[in-house]
Amino acid sequence: MSTPRRFFIENLDPVATEVRLEGEEFIHAKTVLRVEAGSEIVLLDGSGKEYSAIVSRIEKHCLSAHIIGVTEGDKEPKAQIYLLCGALKGDKTELVVQKATELGVTEIGIFSSEYCSAYMNENKLERLNKVAREAAKQCLRSRAPKVAFFADLNSALKSACSYKNKLFACEFLKNSTTDMRAINGPTALVVGSEGGFSHKEFEEAEKLGFYGVTLGKRILRAETAAVVMCALAAQALGELE
Ligand code: SAM
Repeated sequence: MSTPRRFFIENLDPVATEVRLEGEEFIHAKTVLRVEAGSEIVLLDGSGKEYSAIVSRIEKHCLSAHIIGVTEGDKEPKAQIYLLCGALKGDKTELVVQKATELGVTEIGIFSSEYCSAYMNENKLERLNKVAREAAKQCLRSRAPKVAFFADLNSALKSACSYKNKLFACEFLKNSTTDMRAINGPTALVVGSEGGFSHKEFEEAEKLGFYGVTLGKRILRAETAAVVMCALAAQALGELE
C-alpha cells in the first residue's frame, strides 16, 4: 500500500472527528493526486500533529474526511535552525527554501541588501511559503518553516537576536571567527545574494553578535552556500544522524 497523501489544513479543530479540506490543498488532492473516497490521508495543521483520516466524500469545492487517529510527527527537527538568505534571481530562492526545508530548517527569512538585485512581492512570498509546505510534505515533516521577507539586512539580522549561535557566511573572510562544528542550541545562518555582502554589512552583523564563517577559498553560488550552511549546521546539531 502506498504512503497516505499529506495535506496541510487550516483551522483544524483538534477534537473534531469530521473535517473538510478546502482551497488549494483540496484542488491538489482532487485534480492532481486524484484522491478518492475511501482513501487514507494525513492532515497536518502545522502544530506538529498528524491526523490520519479516511476520505468520506469528495465534492466540488471540498472533501470531507473522518479522523481515525492523531500522532505527534516524528520527523520534525529537534534543533532550531533559522536561515536568512538574500533574495535570489529567477527561481533560485525557491530552490533554497525547498532544500532548507528538507534539511530541517525551522524558520526562513529572505532579505534585500546592498548588492541584491532580485525583488520580492506578496505573490512571490506566498509562492515561497507554498514551496516550503510542498517540501515539508514530501520529506514527511509535519510543519513547514514560515518564510518571511525583510526589506533590509539590518532588520533581518535583528530578527535573529534570540538565537544562541549567529553565523554569517562571508565570502571575503580568510578564516572563520568561530568553529561551526562545535555549535549547540538555536542557530541562525546568514547567506548573501548573488552580489554578496559589503564590508560595512559584515561589520554591522558583527556588532549584532554574528560570527563570520568561511566556506573555503572558492566562491560558491549563493544557493550552494545556503544549502552548505544548512547542512553543516544540521550536521553539527545532530539532525543528519
Ligand atoms: N559577489 C560575491 C563576490 O564576487 O565575491 C560573491 C557572492 S556569493 C555568490 C553569495 C553568498 O554566498 C555570499 O555572500 C556568502 O554569503 C556565500 N558564500 C559564497 N562563497 C563563500 C565562501 N567561500 N565563504 C563564505 N561564504 C560564501
